[in-house]
Amino acid sequence: MDITSLLSHRTLSMSGSGIRRAFELGAKLKDPINLSIGQPDFPVARAVKDAAIRAINDDRNGYSLSRGIPELTTALATKLQTDVGWSFSGLGDSSADASDLLVTTGTSGALVLIAMAILNPGDEIIFPDPYFVLYPALSTITDAKAVYCDTYPDFRLTAARVEKLITPRTKAVLLNSPGNPGGVVMSERDCAELLDLCKRKNILLISDEIYDEFTYSESRTQRAARSDADKSLKCPSPCRLPGAAAHTLLIRGFGKTYGNTGWRLGYAAGPRKLIEQMIKLQQFSFVCAPTPLQWGVLEAIHADASLQVADYQKRRDLVVSALSTVTDLATPGGAFYAFPKIPDKLGMTGSQFLEAAIAKNVILVNGGTFSQRDTHFRLSYAVPQHKLEAGLEVLTNLLSGR
Ligand code: PMP
Repeated sequence: MDITSLLSHRTLSMSGSGIRRAFELGAKLKDPINLSIGQPDFPVARAVKDAAIRAINDDRNGYSLSRGIPELTTALATKLQTDVGWSFSGLGDSSADASDLLVTTGTSGALVLIAMAILNPGDEIIFPDPYFVLYPALSTITDAKAVYCDTYPDFRLTAARVEKLITPRTKAVLLNSPGNPGGVVMSERDCAELLDLCKRKNILLISDEIYDEFTYSESRTQRAARSDADKSLKCPSPCRLPGAAAHTLLIRGFGKTYGNTGWRLGYAAGPRKLIEQMIKLQQFSFVCAPTPLQWGVLEAIHADASLQVADYQKRRDLVVSALSTVTDLATPGGAFYAFPKIPDKLGMTGSQFLEAAIAKNVILVNGGTFSQRDTHFRLSYAVPQHKLEAGLEVLTNLLSGR
């Protein structure tokens, strides 16, 4: 059978992820310094694992509601009410004009559902370049058009940069702060200007906040915390600003924050009319997020990640002090990535630099995996400190042309 002739244009137009390529190259090395992995290196908390195991042993293994188990959706509504100040009154009550939410199969599940809910063929979605690898695929699977917003060299998706790209076909702007691959955190002012632009143009602002807990002290702010009940310092988010509830879709995950990326759990919150459509699409695709694991993350919802974040902040500091002397580096304010430039004097593309690093036993991801240009590389510092230090020594030498 000629399988190729059966394949859709959408499948054929997608190339495999460069992250997977780094993974395959790394598999050939003996004890490599692997700085390519976008996953926390701490174990899942015992209580969270126990809650999932209990759910399995108690036979809570069937489908859940498409929106998620009521215990989890209620807990998330309470959490978001205090954090971003949205009103979730009457969850599931379609007459009420409040915010709503659903539990999804990872943050990726939420992104795919919102793309399917709003994009018709030819519609446009604007996102930053460099971007998380799934973003361009969101338009491929919906026959929409990906509009890349060049954010070099500081990786901020500012209103001024976005405004030039808006057309009558623009349906959404996709913001990711703290960002992958740059780790850059938008300021409160950046968020306010972007939200204001989206409101004026009747465009949905999608805020992918998968790394929100991984925000370092200097990038957190208090002013935006709207609730008296929650005065803690937060990552700036457009979702906390006045009027945001009607114009933004907030997407967050559990995998990065609690170290269980393989559980495939995330959530999306936004205007009820939008969430209803996402739930409908979930019914006919993913059906629901894994039920016993929803019970597991319910246990994690109030967990305090501050010790891990402080630890990552120290590693971030190591990365910045080692690399900023030898190349241009936008300081990461969050997540656990850095996206340094390959100095022009080396005359190397990201892919060539990746090969050079692999020859020295260090695995990275080349910038072209996340961008229309291949001039940078991504390193993840979610690795033990001794590995990071060894990797930084190799990279500092390579970047200095030694
Ligand atoms: N958004 C961003 C910015 C990411 O970096 C990732 C994962 N690396 C995702 C979404 C998808 O996360 P999940 O594993 O929850 O689907």
